Amino acid sequence: MKKILAIVLAVAMIASVAMLAGCGNNGTNATKASDAATTVETASSKAKLTMATNAYFPPYEYYDGEKIVGIDAEVAQAIADKLGMELEIVDIEFDSIITGVQTGKYDMGMAGMTVTDERKQSVDFSSSYATGIQSVIVKEDSAIKSVDDILAKDATYKVGVQLSTTGDIYISDDYEKAGKSADLITEFQTGNDAVAALSSGKVDAVVIDNEPAKSYVAATKGLKILDTEYVSEDYAICFAKNNTELKDKVNGALEELIKDGTVKSIVDKYINAK
Ligand code: GLN
Repeated sequence: MKKILAIVLAVAMIASVAMLAGCGNNGTNATKASDAATTVETASSKAKLTMATNAYFPPYEYYDGEKIVGIDAEVAQAIADKLGMELEIVDIEFDSIITGVQTGKYDMGMAGMTVTDERKQSVDFSSSYATGIQSVIVKEDSAIKSVDDILAKDATYKVGVQLSTTGDIYISDDYEKAGKSADLITEFQTGNDAVAALSSGKVDAVVIDNEPAKSYVAATKGLKILDTEYVSEDYAICFAKNNTELKDKVNGALEELIKDGTVKSIVDKYINAK
């Protein structure tokens, strides 16, 4: 009898311990589960910020191995960090950035992109975070000494540009105004291709933003940048017109990063340190 009681007691004790443990376990598990859920949630609820760029525009964006680096990549990362968002950079043709942003495929476009009135019809821009200059690259022994030489009355120079960039837009306009044939202008998918065409003599000049121009000239023998600045311009981030909420958030972060000197230090790291 004693034995049975003992067994009953023991079973009861084990049961209650098991229950307690069970409760504890359940509690622990629940906490763990909710911890895990929180972690998972944090990772997935860290909203993604997708940035469309064209990663052949040094030092604003270019590949370092597999990774896209450069001024835009770093400024965008600083913005994403400030907003607690996860940055994803997508490399596409420059020509497709505005449409991709307009259709909502990407949250924003950041590609050393110049603010122009025409683009403002399609997208909204952030505050400007950098300035650019359209420069002209020619061969070292070129007869072209200035933009005026290219636009001179009887001149028939062939010019290479990157498709849909402001260099393309400005020189095409000026050629049209000067009554020159549009056939004299060749539009390439990348600045790199335009510079290669200049090197091999297929075009006589390339109109392109000054910083990539410097990189290309440094990397290619026999080329130089003309002293004359063609056009100076402002770079900004573009957003779909209906995406005011995101634009305001990103722009707010960008403005703080401009104010506290972060943007300048990123620009200096890539440009003035060279
Ligand atoms: N700044 C030029 C433009 O906006 C070129 C930009 C680029 O080639 N990434 O058109």
